[in-house]
Amino acid sequence: MDVEVLKRDDVSLKLLVKGVKLHLLNSIRRALIAEVPVMAVDYVVFMENSSVFYDEYIAHRLALIPLSSEKALEKYKSPEECREAGERGIFSEDCFVKLELSGEGVKGGVKTLYSGDLVSGDPDVKPVYDKIPIIQLLENQRVKLEAYARLGRGREHIKWSPVSVAAHKYVASVKIDEGKCSYPQCRRCIEVCPRQVIVEKEGSIKVDEGKLLECSLCRLCETVCPSEAVKVSWKEDEYILYFESTGSLTPKRILIEATKVLEDKLNTLKKALLEGVGYGGG
Ligand code: SF4
Ligand code: SF4
Repeated sequence: MDVEVLKRDDVSLKLLVKGVKLHLLNSIRRALIAEVPVMAVDYVVFMENSSVFYDEYIAHRLALIPLSSEKALEKYKSPEECREAGERGIFSEDCFVKLELSGEGVKGGVKTLYSGDLVSGDPDVKPVYDKIPIIQLLENQRVKLEAYARLGRGREHIKWSPVSVAAHKYVASVKIDEGKCSYPQCRRCIEVCPRQVIVEKEGSIKVDEGKLLECSLCRLCETVCPSEAVKVSWKEDEYILYFESTGSLTPKRILIEATKVLEDKLNTLKKALLEGVGYGGG
């Protein structure tokens, strides 16, 4: 498998992956969304809420605030252990981080509580962004609560997904049959291509190979061609993988953790098969 980094920044990663079957790449993509653990608020205890919002509404907003999780993966117990502890009402320090929030409306104005107002019991687990609005309070309205965050996985609830986007895309192959093409009398495909993949170069019509990664496979070029000279398809076993982090983990860490999860699952399957589980011991 060949992997080339096409684009990389603090929150996203775009890779060109060659020599891989789609089902394997899709397994990685799904693991990015649903299997890599991150911290998110799971329980909220309200001491006071005289705002116009129901408790559940505020709890839902708190749960969707991305929390820094790089160190939490080593420090806290696994999602499975912590879910069980939570269901039994045990707020173990090995699982849960407490975040406190309190605020009161101001006279004649509106007080907004932001994610940055949450006070975390662990400096390694805190809101990634400070300016996510949680609630607005008017005069005589108060909120005081304790939120408990734990590790979880996106397959349990999307609040625990480390990515906001994870997608793969085919890499286009665009061919022009010069025998059928009537360029320069016709220039339709050049004119309609929204990504400038088909261009005029040195007096002839060409596919700009450097732009093929940007082809959206819209097939407009094929549709407008009067002589079926353009053929759009895609390359075998070559894909673009793109994903964006919520900020809880770096994109590199998310990818590494996803491959670790897949490896563990395959090892578990292999072990079960070797031990004859499900095969009547044979
Ligand atoms: S499929 Fe669309 S983007 Fe790709 S070359 Fe044709 S017109 Fe351009
Ligand atoms: S639309 Fe077809 S005939 Fe016209 S320039 Fe493109 S390939 Fe040639």
